[in-house]
Amino acid sequence: MEENVEEIREEISIEIGENFVTENCLDCGSQTRTVNGYVYTENCARAIYYARWTDSHLERGIQILLSIGQWGEGTTGEVRRRIGVACRMYSNGPAFMIVDASELPWDDEEFLGRALTRQGVLNGPAKEEVFSILDRLVFDDHRIKAFLYSEENQ
Ligand SMILES: [Zn+2]
Repeated sequence: MEENVEEIREEISIEIGENFVTENCLDCGSQTRTVNGYVYTENCARAIYYARWTDSHLERGIQILLSIGQWGEGTTGEVRRRIGVACRMYSNGPAFMIVDASELPWDDEEFLGRALTRQGVLNGPAKEEVFSILDRLVFDDHRIKAFLYSEENQ
């Protein structure tokens, strides 16, 4: 069982998607950014992610939405599930907390699939995979990594 988990981790790859600047912080004017990208397992499309944060507000963390399931021609949101994540940076690295996906932005995007609750993810079959993807995401997406590890935030 342990070996299988390790194998999955090795086979995950990240493809960088788009950048969106959504709004400015009401307190300090820093930009709130949303980025997206794609997750592949064994070269098959497995997930889309969206990550949202506000520059110079590392203490607020990053909101991450993962949509995991089947992709490709003819598929719809019915074969995918939305998973919500709150990422916080600590001195020993990033930590992830699963949250109800319906609490995040992107709630009206039907193609991202049905929103799972925190309990639904933690008790469900995708839990290990979700954390493997998240571990990979914060290092392989240079935009997320730059925010988490930028010197001005230390
Ligand atoms: Zn601010």
